[in-house]
Amino acid sequence: MSTPTIDFVPGAPLTALSDEEQMFQQSVRDFAVEKIRPLVHRMDHDATMDKNLIKAFFELGIMGIEIPEQWGGAGSTFFNAVLVVEELSHVDASCGVLVDVQNTLVNNAILRWGSDDHKSRYLTMLAADTIGAYALSEEGSGSDAFALATRAQDKGDHWLLTGRKLWITNAAEAGIFIVFANANPDAGYKGITAFIIERDFPGFQIGKKEDKTGIRASSTCELILEETRVPKGNVLGEAGKGYKIAIETLNEGRIGIGAQMLGVARGALEHAIAYVKERKQFGKPVSEFQAVQFQIAQAATELEAARLMVYNAARLKDAKQPFLREAAMAKLFSSQVAEKVTSLAVQLFGGNGYTKEYPVEKFWRDSKVGQIYEGTSNMQLATIAKTILTEKL
Ligand SMILES: Cc1cc2nc3c(=O)[nH]c(=O)nc-3n(C[C@H](O)[C@H](O)[C@H](O)COP(=O)(O)OP(=O)(O)OC[C@H]3O[C@@H](n4cnc5c(N)ncnc54)[C@H](O)[C@@H]3O)c2cc1C
Repeated sequence: MSTPTIDFVPGAPLTALSDEEQMFQQSVRDFAVEKIRPLVHRMDHDATMDKNLIKAFFELGIMGIEIPEQWGGAGSTFFNAVLVVEELSHVDASCGVLVDVQNTLVNNAILRWGSDDHKSRYLTMLAADTIGAYALSEEGSGSDAFALATRAQDKGDHWLLTGRKLWITNAAEAGIFIVFANANPDAGYKGITAFIIERDFPGFQIGKKEDKTGIRASSTCELILEETRVPKGNVLGEAGKGYKIAIETLNEGRIGIGAQMLGVARGALEHAIAYVKERKQFGKPVSEFQAVQFQIAQAATELEAARLMVYNAARLKDAKQPFLREAAMAKLFSSQVAEKVTSLAVQLFGGNGYTKEYPVEKFWRDSKVGQIYEGTSNMQLATIAKTILTEKL
Protein backbone atom coordinates (compact mmCIF):
# COMPACT_ATOMS: atom_id res chain seq x y z
CA MET A 1 0.00 0.00 0.00
CA SER A 2 1.46 3.36 -1.00
CA THR A 3 1.75 5.91 1.80
CA PRO A 4 0.17 9.25 0.97
CA THR A 5 2.57 12.16 0.74
CA ILE A 6 2.48 14.30 3.86
CA ASP A 7 3.12 17.89 2.89
CA PHE A 8 3.12 19.00 6.50
CA VAL A 9 6.36 20.76 7.35
CA PRO A 10 6.84 21.34 11.09
CA GLY A 11 7.11 25.05 11.71
CA ALA A 12 5.30 26.02 8.49
CA PRO A 13 2.27 28.32 8.79
CA LEU A 14 -0.84 26.18 9.23
CA THR A 15 -2.73 27.98 6.50
CA ALA A 16 0.11 27.92 3.95
CA LEU A 17 -0.95 25.32 1.39
CA SER A 18 1.25 23.07 -0.72
CA ASP A 19 0.72 22.96 -4.50
CA GLU A 20 -1.35 19.79 -4.17
CA GLU A 21 -3.48 21.30 -1.39
CA GLN A 22 -4.07 24.46 -3.42
CA MET A 23 -5.09 22.35 -6.39
CA PHE A 24 -7.63 20.38 -4.34
CA GLN A 25 -8.96 23.55 -2.76
CA GLN A 26 -9.30 25.51 -6.01
CA SER A 27 -10.87 22.70 -8.04
CA VAL A 28 -13.49 22.03 -5.36
CA ARG A 29 -14.11 25.75 -4.77
CA ASP A 30 -14.74 26.29 -8.52
CA PHE A 31 -16.97 23.24 -8.67
CA ALA A 32 -18.96 24.32 -5.61
CA VAL A 33 -19.56 27.83 -6.89
CA GLU A 34 -20.33 26.89 -10.51
CA LYS A 35 -22.15 23.58 -10.17
CA ILE A 36 -23.53 23.31 -6.64
CA ARG A 37 -24.64 26.87 -5.90
CA PRO A 38 -27.35 26.97 -8.60
CA LEU A 39 -28.92 23.81 -7.09
CA VAL A 40 -28.76 24.68 -3.40
CA HIS A 41 -32.15 26.33 -3.00
CA ARG A 42 -34.03 23.55 -4.79
CA MET A 43 -32.19 20.73 -3.02
CA ASP A 44 -32.94 22.36 0.35
CA HIS A 45 -36.60 22.86 -0.54
CA ASP A 46 -37.03 19.31 -1.90
CA ALA A 47 -34.80 17.78 0.81
CA THR A 48 -33.04 15.77 -1.90
CA MET A 49 -29.47 15.54 -3.08
CA ASP A 50 -29.10 16.03 -6.84
CA LYS A 51 -28.05 12.68 -8.36
CA ASN A 52 -25.81 14.30 -10.96
CA LEU A 53 -23.88 16.03 -8.22
CA ILE A 54 -23.16 12.71 -6.55
CA LYS A 55 -21.83 11.40 -9.87
CA ALA A 56 -19.71 14.51 -10.23
CA PHE A 57 -18.21 14.04 -6.75
CA PHE A 58 -16.90 10.65 -7.85
CA GLU A 59 -15.59 12.09 -11.14
CA LEU A 60 -13.83 14.88 -9.25
CA GLY A 61 -12.02 12.24 -7.17
CA ILE A 62 -13.28 13.55 -3.83
CA MET A 63 -15.07 10.40 -2.64
CA GLY A 64 -11.85 8.47 -2.07
CA ILE A 65 -9.37 11.16 -1.08
CA GLU A 66 -7.21 9.01 1.20
CA ILE A 67 -7.86 5.74 -0.64
CA PRO A 68 -4.58 4.64 -2.25
CA GLU A 69 -4.41 4.77 -6.04
CA GLN A 70 -4.23 0.95 -6.31
CA TRP A 71 -7.93 0.91 -5.29
CA GLY A 72 -8.88 3.85 -7.46
CA GLY A 73 -8.58 6.63 -4.88
CA ALA A 74 -6.61 9.87 -4.93
CA GLY A 75 -3.94 8.54 -2.52
CA SER A 76 -3.96 11.87 -0.75
CA THR A 77 -4.09 13.18 2.82
CA PHE A 78 -6.64 13.71 5.57
CA PHE A 79 -5.85 17.42 5.39
CA ASN A 80 -7.04 17.49 1.78
CA ALA A 81 -10.29 15.81 2.83
CA VAL A 82 -10.73 18.62 5.35
CA LEU A 83 -10.08 21.28 2.70
CA VAL A 84 -12.64 19.63 0.41
CA VAL A 85 -15.30 19.52 3.15
CA GLU A 86 -14.73 23.19 3.95
CA GLU A 87 -14.97 24.23 0.30
CA LEU A 88 -18.16 22.25 -0.34
CA SER A 89 -19.75 23.49 2.89
CA HIS A 90 -19.06 27.14 2.13
CA VAL A 91 -21.67 26.64 -0.60
CA ASP A 92 -23.73 23.75 0.74
CA ALA A 93 -23.27 21.93 4.05
CA SER A 94 -25.30 18.93 2.82
CA CYS A 95 -22.76 18.25 0.08
CA GLY A 96 -20.08 18.84 2.70
CA VAL A 97 -21.39 16.17 5.06
CA LEU A 98 -22.03 13.63 2.30
CA VAL A 99 -18.38 13.80 1.26
CA ASP A 100 -17.22 14.08 4.87
CA VAL A 101 -18.92 10.88 6.07
CA GLN A 102 -17.60 9.00 3.03
CA ASN A 103 -13.99 10.05 3.57
CA THR A 104 -13.47 10.62 7.27
CA LEU A 105 -15.67 7.82 8.64
CA VAL A 106 -16.36 5.07 6.11
CA ASN A 107 -13.22 5.02 3.93
CA ASN A 108 -11.12 5.79 6.96
CA ALA A 109 -12.51 2.86 8.99
CA ILE A 110 -12.02 0.39 6.14
CA LEU A 111 -8.53 1.71 5.41
CA ARG A 112 -7.51 1.31 9.05
CA TRP A 113 -9.28 -1.89 10.05
CA GLY A 114 -10.30 -3.60 6.81
CA SER A 115 -8.75 -6.88 5.65
CA ASP A 116 -7.05 -7.03 2.23
CA ASP A 117 -10.27 -8.47 0.88
CA HIS A 118 -12.37 -5.61 2.34
CA LYS A 119 -10.00 -3.10 0.85
CA SER A 120 -9.92 -4.54 -2.63
CA ARG A 121 -13.70 -5.12 -2.65
CA TYR A 122 -15.12 -2.13 -0.82
CA LEU A 123 -12.56 0.64 -1.19
CA THR A 124 -12.64 0.20 -4.98
CA MET A 125 -16.43 0.60 -4.89
CA LEU A 126 -16.27 3.59 -2.52
CA ALA A 127 -13.71 5.34 -4.73
CA ALA A 128 -15.61 4.57 -7.95
CA ASP A 129 -19.36 5.00 -7.49
CA THR A 130 -20.71 3.78 -4.14
CA ILE A 131 -21.69 5.96 -1.22
CA GLY A 132 -20.96 4.81 2.32
CA ALA A 133 -22.81 5.35 5.60
CA TYR A 134 -21.74 4.91 9.21
CA ALA A 135 -24.34 3.54 11.62
CA LEU A 136 -23.71 3.77 15.34
CA SER A 137 -26.61 5.80 16.84
CA GLU A 138 -29.94 4.33 17.90
CA GLU A 139 -33.11 5.68 19.47
CA GLY A 140 -31.89 4.83 22.97
CA SER A 141 -28.18 5.44 22.46
CA GLY A 142 -26.81 8.73 21.20
CA SER A 143 -24.24 10.31 23.50
CA ASP A 144 -24.17 6.98 25.35
CA ALA A 145 -23.26 5.25 22.10
CA PHE A 146 -22.07 2.02 23.68
CA ALA A 147 -25.51 1.34 25.14
CA LEU A 148 -26.56 0.27 21.63
CA ALA A 149 -29.24 -2.41 21.48
CA THR A 150 -28.60 -3.90 18.03
CA ARG A 151 -27.53 -7.50 18.48
CA ALA A 152 -25.33 -9.79 16.38
CA GLN A 153 -25.68 -13.57 16.67
CA ASP A 154 -22.88 -15.82 15.53
CA LYS A 155 -24.39 -18.53 13.29
CA GLY A 156 -21.18 -20.31 12.34
CA ASP A 157 -20.59 -19.28 8.74
CA HIS A 158 -22.59 -16.05 9.02
CA TRP A 159 -23.98 -13.49 11.49
CA LEU A 160 -27.56 -12.42 12.04
CA LEU A 161 -28.03 -8.77 13.03
CA THR A 162 -31.23 -7.48 14.59
CA GLY A 163 -32.05 -3.94 15.68
CA ARG A 164 -32.65 -0.40 14.46
CA LYS A 165 -30.28 2.43 13.75
CA LEU A 166 -31.37 6.04 13.77
CA TRP A 167 -30.05 9.26 12.24
CA ILE A 168 -27.91 7.64 9.58
CA THR A 169 -26.40 10.18 7.19
CA ASN A 170 -26.23 9.17 3.49
CA ALA A 171 -28.49 6.16 4.14
CA ALA A 172 -30.93 6.97 1.30
CA GLU A 173 -28.13 6.89 -1.28
CA ALA A 174 -25.59 4.53 0.29
CA GLY A 175 -24.60 1.10 -1.00
CA ILE A 176 -22.26 0.20 1.88
CA PHE A 177 -22.94 0.61 5.60
CA ILE A 178 -20.63 0.21 8.56
CA VAL A 179 -23.00 -1.00 11.27
CA PHE A 180 -22.16 -1.46 14.94
CA ALA A 181 -23.88 -4.25 16.87
CA ASN A 182 -23.22 -6.03 20.15
CA ALA A 183 -22.19 -9.66 19.64
CA ASN A 184 -21.74 -10.37 23.34
CA PRO A 185 -23.90 -8.17 25.59
CA ASP A 186 -22.51 -9.90 28.72
CA ALA A 187 -19.17 -8.34 27.90
CA GLY A 188 -20.73 -4.85 27.78
CA TYR A 189 -19.05 -2.46 25.36
CA LYS A 190 -16.40 -5.13 24.71
CA GLY A 191 -19.05 -7.04 22.76
CA ILE A 192 -19.48 -4.25 20.22
CA THR A 193 -18.49 -5.35 16.75
CA ALA A 194 -18.36 -3.45 13.44
CA PHE A 195 -19.85 -5.07 10.33
CA ILE A 196 -19.74 -4.09 6.67
CA ILE A 197 -23.23 -4.43 5.26
CA GLU A 198 -24.23 -4.14 1.62
CA ARG A 199 -27.56 -2.50 0.88
CA ASP A 200 -29.06 -5.65 -0.64
CA PHE A 201 -28.12 -8.07 2.15
CA PRO A 202 -31.26 -10.04 3.11
CA GLY A 203 -33.07 -8.61 6.15
CA PHE A 204 -31.68 -5.09 5.70
CA GLN A 205 -33.92 -2.11 4.94
CA ILE A 206 -33.79 1.67 4.95
CA GLY A 207 -36.57 3.11 7.12
CA LYS A 208 -38.07 6.57 7.47
CA LYS A 209 -36.18 9.65 6.36
CA GLU A 210 -36.05 12.58 8.81
CA ASP A 211 -37.58 15.93 7.83
CA LYS A 212 -34.84 18.15 9.20
CA THR A 213 -34.32 21.83 10.07
CA GLY A 214 -31.01 22.10 8.24
CA ILE A 215 -28.72 20.11 5.93
CA ARG A 216 -32.01 19.07 4.36
CA ALA A 217 -30.48 17.70 1.15
CA SER A 218 -28.39 15.28 3.19
CA SER A 219 -30.42 12.15 3.84
CA THR A 220 -30.77 11.04 7.47
CA CYS A 221 -32.65 7.76 7.83
CA GLU A 222 -33.47 4.89 10.07
CA LEU A 223 -31.96 1.47 9.30
CA ILE A 224 -33.99 -1.64 10.01
CA LEU A 225 -32.13 -4.88 10.62
CA GLU A 226 -34.36 -7.95 10.87
CA GLU A 227 -32.07 -10.94 11.10
CA THR A 228 -29.85 -9.33 8.49
CA ARG A 229 -27.57 -12.05 7.18
CA VAL A 230 -23.97 -10.91 7.13
CA PRO A 231 -21.15 -13.16 5.86
CA LYS A 232 -18.56 -14.10 8.46
CA GLY A 233 -15.88 -12.27 6.53
CA ASN A 234 -17.72 -8.95 6.84
CA VAL A 235 -16.63 -8.23 10.39
CA LEU A 236 -14.52 -5.08 10.24
CA GLY A 237 -11.48 -5.52 12.46
CA GLU A 238 -11.94 -8.05 15.25
CA ALA A 239 -15.22 -9.11 16.85
CA GLY A 240 -15.54 -7.26 20.17
CA LYS A 241 -13.25 -4.43 19.04
CA GLY A 242 -15.98 -2.32 17.44
CA TYR A 243 -15.92 0.16 20.33
CA LYS A 244 -12.32 1.00 19.46
CA ILE A 245 -13.20 1.47 15.78
CA ALA A 246 -16.14 3.71 16.73
CA ILE A 247 -14.11 5.87 19.12
CA GLU A 248 -11.13 6.23 16.86
CA THR A 249 -13.02 6.97 13.64
CA LEU A 250 -15.19 9.55 15.40
CA ASN A 251 -12.11 11.19 16.92
CA GLU A 252 -10.91 11.77 13.37
CA GLY A 253 -14.33 12.40 11.85
CA ARG A 254 -15.06 15.32 14.11
CA ILE A 255 -12.21 17.29 12.51
CA GLY A 256 -14.26 16.97 9.31
CA ILE A 257 -17.32 18.36 11.08
CA GLY A 258 -15.13 21.22 12.28
CA ALA A 259 -14.27 21.84 8.61
CA GLN A 260 -17.93 21.67 7.63
CA MET A 261 -18.77 24.32 10.23
CA LEU A 262 -15.83 26.44 9.09
CA GLY A 263 -17.24 26.35 5.57
CA VAL A 264 -20.73 27.20 6.78
CA ALA A 265 -19.48 30.23 8.75
CA ARG A 266 -17.32 31.38 5.86
CA GLY A 267 -20.10 31.01 3.29
CA ALA A 268 -22.52 33.07 5.40
CA LEU A 269 -19.92 35.75 6.14
CA GLU A 270 -19.03 36.11 2.45
CA HIS A 271 -22.69 36.70 1.59
CA ALA A 272 -23.05 39.18 4.46
CA ILE A 273 -19.97 41.16 3.40
CA ALA A 274 -21.25 41.44 -0.18
CA TYR A 275 -24.69 42.50 1.06
CA VAL A 276 -23.62 45.24 3.48
CA LYS A 277 -21.51 46.83 0.76
CA GLU A 278 -24.58 47.01 -1.51
CA ARG A 279 -27.39 47.80 0.93
CA LYS A 280 -27.84 51.52 1.56
CA GLN A 281 -29.47 53.09 4.63
CA PHE A 282 -29.17 56.68 5.87
CA GLY A 283 -27.73 57.54 2.46
CA LYS A 284 -24.73 55.22 2.48
CA PRO A 285 -23.80 51.54 2.33
CA VAL A 286 -24.47 49.78 5.62
CA SER A 287 -20.81 48.61 5.54
CA GLU A 288 -19.74 52.18 6.27
CA PHE A 289 -21.21 52.12 9.78
CA GLN A 290 -18.48 51.34 12.25
CA ALA A 291 -20.79 49.15 14.33
CA VAL A 292 -21.28 46.88 11.30
CA GLN A 293 -17.57 46.90 10.47
CA PHE A 294 -16.78 45.80 14.02
CA GLN A 295 -19.31 42.98 13.87
CA ILE A 296 -17.72 41.74 10.65
CA ALA A 297 -14.21 42.10 12.03
CA GLN A 298 -15.16 40.09 15.13
CA ALA A 299 -16.74 37.34 13.00
CA ALA A 300 -13.71 37.18 10.70
CA THR A 301 -11.41 36.90 13.72
CA GLU A 302 -13.37 34.01 15.22
CA LEU A 303 -13.48 32.33 11.83
CA GLU A 304 -9.69 32.58 11.56
CA ALA A 305 -9.29 31.07 15.04
CA ALA A 306 -11.62 28.19 14.08
CA ARG A 307 -9.67 27.63 10.84
CA LEU A 308 -6.36 27.43 12.70
CA MET A 309 -7.82 24.89 15.13
CA VAL A 310 -9.31 22.71 12.39
CA TYR A 311 -6.21 22.84 10.19
CA ASN A 312 -3.94 22.15 13.16
CA ALA A 313 -5.94 19.08 14.20
CA ALA A 314 -5.91 17.75 10.62
CA ARG A 315 -2.20 18.37 10.16
CA LEU A 316 -1.47 16.68 13.51
CA LYS A 317 -3.42 13.64 12.35
CA ASP A 318 -1.51 13.45 9.05
CA ALA A 319 1.76 13.84 10.96
CA LYS A 320 0.70 10.89 13.19
CA GLN A 321 0.86 13.12 16.29
CA PRO A 322 -1.72 12.96 19.10
CA PHE A 323 -4.76 15.05 18.13
CA LEU A 324 -7.66 13.91 20.35
CA ARG A 325 -8.00 17.10 22.39
CA GLU A 326 -7.28 19.37 19.43
CA ALA A 327 -9.97 17.62 17.35
CA ALA A 328 -12.57 17.96 20.11
CA MET A 329 -11.67 21.62 20.62
CA ALA A 330 -11.78 22.31 16.88
CA LYS A 331 -15.26 20.81 16.50
CA LEU A 332 -16.59 22.47 19.65
CA PHE A 333 -15.29 25.89 18.72
CA SER A 334 -15.97 25.93 15.00
CA SER A 335 -19.58 24.79 15.53
CA GLN A 336 -20.07 27.63 18.05
CA VAL A 337 -18.50 30.09 15.60
CA ALA A 338 -20.74 28.79 12.82
CA GLU A 339 -23.91 29.36 14.83
CA LYS A 340 -22.77 32.84 15.84
CA VAL A 341 -21.53 33.98 12.43
CA THR A 342 -24.53 32.65 10.51
CA SER A 343 -26.83 34.38 12.98
CA LEU A 344 -24.92 37.63 12.43
CA ALA A 345 -25.25 37.15 8.67
CA VAL A 346 -29.05 36.90 9.02
CA GLN A 347 -28.94 40.04 11.19
CA LEU A 348 -26.90 41.99 8.65
CA PHE A 349 -29.35 41.08 5.88
CA GLY A 350 -32.14 42.63 7.99
CA GLY A 351 -35.64 41.50 7.01
CA ASN A 352 -34.27 39.94 3.82
CA GLY A 353 -32.12 37.64 5.93
CA TYR A 354 -35.23 36.14 7.42
CA THR A 355 -36.61 34.95 4.08
CA LYS A 356 -35.80 31.99 1.87
CA GLU A 357 -35.18 34.31 -1.07
CA TYR A 358 -31.76 35.09 0.38
CA PRO A 359 -29.11 32.46 1.15
CA VAL A 360 -28.21 33.24 4.75
CA GLU A 361 -31.14 31.73 6.66
CA LYS A 362 -30.14 28.34 5.25
CA PHE A 363 -26.58 28.74 6.53
CA TRP A 364 -28.07 29.54 9.94
CA ARG A 365 -30.26 26.42 9.87
CA ASP A 366 -27.33 24.32 8.62
CA SER A 367 -25.05 25.51 11.42
CA LYS A 368 -26.95 23.99 14.35
CA VAL A 369 -26.20 20.36 13.61
CA GLY A 370 -22.48 20.94 14.11
CA GLN A 371 -23.16 21.05 17.86
CA ILE A 372 -25.12 17.81 17.76
CA TYR A 373 -23.66 15.11 15.53
CA GLU A 374 -20.41 13.17 15.95
CA GLY A 375 -20.64 13.97 19.66
CA THR A 376 -22.62 16.90 21.08
CA SER A 377 -20.80 19.96 22.42
CA ASN A 378 -21.09 18.57 25.94
CA MET A 379 -19.39 15.36 24.79
CA GLN A 380 -16.54 17.41 23.26
CA LEU A 381 -16.22 19.31 26.54
CA ALA A 382 -16.11 16.01 28.42
CA THR A 383 -13.27 14.79 26.19
CA ILE A 384 -11.35 18.05 26.52
CA ALA A 385 -11.82 18.14 30.30
CA LYS A 386 -10.73 14.51 30.65
CA THR A 387 -7.52 15.06 28.69
CA ILE A 388 -6.72 18.19 30.71
CA LEU A 389 -7.57 16.83 34.13
CA THR A 390 -5.69 13.55 33.68
CA GLU A 391 -2.59 15.24 32.29
CA LYS A 392 0.53 14.89 34.43
CA LEU A 393 1.67 18.32 35.59
C1 LIG B 1 -28.58 15.30 11.02
C2 LIG B 1 -27.98 14.21 11.85
C3 LIG B 1 -27.16 13.28 11.23
C4 LIG B 1 -26.60 12.23 11.98
N1 LIG B 1 -25.83 11.29 11.35
C5 LIG B 1 -25.41 10.20 12.05
C6 LIG B 1 -24.72 9.12 11.39
O1 LIG B 1 -24.44 9.17 10.17
N2 LIG B 1 -24.39 8.03 12.11
C7 LIG B 1 -24.66 7.93 13.44
O2 LIG B 1 -24.33 6.90 14.03
N3 LIG B 1 -25.31 8.93 14.11
C8 LIG B 1 -25.68 10.06 13.44
N4 LIG B 1 -26.35 11.08 14.08
C9 LIG B 1 -26.66 10.93 15.51
C10 LIG B 1 -25.86 11.87 16.40
O3 LIG B 1 -24.53 11.44 16.48
C11 LIG B 1 -26.58 11.94 17.76
O4 LIG B 1 -27.78 12.66 17.55
C12 LIG B 1 -25.71 12.60 18.81
O5 LIG B 1 -24.63 11.79 19.17
C13 LIG B 1 -26.52 12.95 20.07
O6 LIG B 1 -27.27 11.87 20.51
P1 LIG B 1 -28.82 12.04 20.85
O7 LIG B 1 -29.46 12.70 19.70
O8 LIG B 1 -29.34 10.73 21.28
O9 LIG B 1 -28.84 13.08 22.06
P2 LIG B 1 -28.69 12.67 23.60
O10 LIG B 1 -27.48 11.84 23.79
O11 LIG B 1 -29.99 12.18 24.10
O12 LIG B 1 -28.40 14.10 24.24
C14 LIG B 1 -29.41 15.02 24.61
C15 LIG B 1 -28.75 16.19 25.33
O13 LIG B 1 -28.17 15.72 26.53
C16 LIG B 1 -26.80 16.05 26.60
N5 LIG B 1 -26.08 14.97 27.29
C17 LIG B 1 -26.23 13.63 27.12
N6 LIG B 1 -25.39 12.97 27.91
C18 LIG B 1 -24.69 13.89 28.60
C19 LIG B 1 -23.66 13.85 29.58
N7 LIG B 1 -23.16 12.67 30.01
N8 LIG B 1 -23.17 15.01 30.07
C20 LIG B 1 -23.64 16.18 29.64
N9 LIG B 1 -24.61 16.31 28.72
C21 LIG B 1 -25.14 15.18 28.20
C22 LIG B 1 -26.36 16.19 25.15
O14 LIG B 1 -25.21 17.03 25.05
C23 LIG B 1 -27.59 16.79 24.52
O15 LIG B 1 -27.58 18.20 24.66
C24 LIG B 1 -26.86 12.14 13.37
C25 LIG B 1 -27.67 13.12 13.97
C26 LIG B 1 -28.22 14.13 13.24
C27 LIG B 1 -29.11 15.14 13.92
